[in-house]
Parts: sequence; C-alpha cells; structure tokens
Amino acid sequence: HAKESGNDRYHVFDAQMHQEMIDRLALENDLKRALERQEFIVHYQPIINLKTQAIVGLEALTHWQNPERGMVSPSLFIPCMETTGLIVPMGMMIFKQACQQLYRWHQQGWTELTMSVNLSVQQFACPTLVEDIDRILAETSIHPACLKLEITESAIMNNIEAVIAIAEQLRSRQIQISIDDFGTGYSSLAYLHQLPIDNLKIDRSFITQIQPQQSQYKVVDTIITLGNHLDLTVTAEGIETVAELEQLQQLDCEFGQGYLFSRPVRAEAIEAKFLQRDRDVDSCLPYYE
Ligand code: C2E
Ligand code: MG
Ligand code: MG
Ligand code: MG
Repeated sequence: HAKESGNDRYHVFDAQMHQEMIDRLALENDLKRALERQEFIVHYQPIINLKTQAIVGLEALTHWQNPERGMVSPSLFIPCMETTGLIVPMGMMIFKQACQQLYRWHQQGWTELTMSVNLSVQQFACPTLVEDIDRILAETSIHPACLKLEITESAIMNNIEAVIAIAEQLRSRQIQISIDDFGTGYSSLAYLHQLPIDNLKIDRSFITQIQPQQSQYKVVDTIITLGNHLDLTVTAEGIETVAELEQLQQLDCEFGQGYLFSRPVRAEAIEAKFLQRDRDVDSCLPYYE
C-alpha cells in the first residue's frame, strides 16, 4: 500500500509512464512477429454509388488477428506500424492480398469492382514503391485502372514534391489516386488543382449528423462543388444513417461508404451480402435493409 506522502502522485505518474512504455514495446514486438506469422488480414468495406446504391468497389482495411489480443482494428496499431517502419513491408503484403481478392471477384463476374488501398507516407518514401506495385499487379493479373490508392491530405503535405512525382508515375499507368480524410489536413487551393489526383474522400467528421443550415453541410456542399469543378469524383466517408444518406444524395455526392451499408468485413461476408449470384451489380435494391 502506498504511503501518504506528498511524493506519491509522482510515483504513481512514474509507474504509469513505465507501464505505457512496457505496453508500447510489447506492441512493437508483437507487431514484428505478426508480420512473420502473417497475422494481418484484409477486411473490405463496400463503396457505393449513392444514386443507384450499387456497389462499385471496396476499400481494403487491414486488421490484425492476434492469438492473445484478438481482432485489432487498424486505428489501434497502424500508428505503431508507421513509427517502426513496419508499415512498408506490411503495406505490400496487404496490397497483394487485396489484389488477389479482387482478381477472384473479377473471375466470379464482378468485373467492374475497383479496389482502394491506403498508402502510408512512408511507403511514398520507399524507392521501390512503383516497381513493387507494377510487379504485384502483373503477378495478380489486375488491370491498373481497377486500382485506387488513398493517401491522406496530411501525408501529401508532408512531402508534396515527392508525392506528386510518384502519383504522376502511378497515374501514367492508369492507377487512380484519392485524397483520404479530405478537409482535415492543411491542403490549400493553391496546389489542389495541380495535384495528379482523381478522387476526394470527405472525412467522416463532416458527414456525421449532416443537416442543412449547419456549417459542416456547407463545407460538404463546397467540397462537392470543388470536386466537380476540378473534374474529381467525390466519396463521402462514414455514412451511418438514412438521413445522412439522403442529405448527401440531395447534394449530388456521387459515392459513399459507411456502417449504413456495411462495416469493414471479411471477403466471405462481402460475397454473402453484396455479391450474390441473383443480384447484379446495377440492381437498385438498398443494401441497408
Ligand atoms: P481510412 O482510410 O480513412 O478508413 C476509414 C475508416 O473509417 C476505417 O477505420 C473505417 O472502419 C471507418 N469507418 C467507415 N465507415 C464508418 C462509419 O460509418 N462510422 C464510423 N464510426 N467509422 C467508419 P479503421 O478501419 O479503424 O481504419 C483507420 C485508418 O487506418 C484508416 O482510415 C487508414 O488511414 C488506416 N489504415 C487501415 N488499413 C490500412 C493499411 O492497410 N495501410 C495503411 N497505410 N493505413 C491503413
Ligand atoms: Mg475498424
Ligand atoms: Mg482510406
Ligand atoms: Mg478516411
């Protein structure tokens, strides 16, 4: 039992910092082993055409299946993967898994589906990124035009010259580029029109409980108009309710994803819910019923 001394809270603080350090080292160690043990698996979240409600593609979101920790969501381990640099080898493994899965869906007749994969700023700094992507596309027989690579606004700003140079190489292969979490970074209109990109993904924080008269509604309206003027498609992230969907439809937002349609799930669950044989890709049935 702790003594009632004036220094106790410092001891408690030390102990807590010590524990946090131990936890972080344990996480790093587990993540290193996770790579060797292939514990990373891809979950897929459908991307929907908001007008027709047809599924147009999937976003690959990496989950970590660990014997002790269970299924760990990306927001809990991706930051650590980035600080340790593990994101670079993991990113390529995930990229290959997602391409192999897309190939299977194309073979099953869902030939129009695209695959969106998140790229970390560290992958953009990797000198072999473009050749690695070329090699995996060739190995998995995926046409580059079916691939969308997502990079966050803040990652672009981190090293804008390098990102532009690489994005240009990727687009010359017909690979599409999206800006992820758009609206939360510090991009300026001065360069947005110069970026070699195809798609803006509006950050989920603007979509939550969106309603006319709100400032976030005006922001979303403005991003959609901006996208139209710059010839970019626009995707809304984090659609959770029918009300949010209806507001976005009124704003003519073309694409969206969110828990309303599906959480990120295993490939088999995507097949069961979205890719049944009797349902064609252009069917207008709402998926969320
Ligand atoms: P992101 O790329 O912006 O992905 C969208 C995030 O929003 C995902 O979080 C997804 O589960 C969540 N989401 C989608 N719809 C809804 C909704 O309706 N409501 C709510 N509350 N959330 C929704 P998640 O899966 O935790 O992933 C977090 C971030 O981790 C991703 O954000 C992405 O930046 C990163 N990430 C995930 N997988 C990878 C990967 O393989 N490589 C890299 N570099 N980053 C990844
Ligand atoms: Mg998740
Ligand atoms: Mg993303
Ligand atoms: Mg996002």
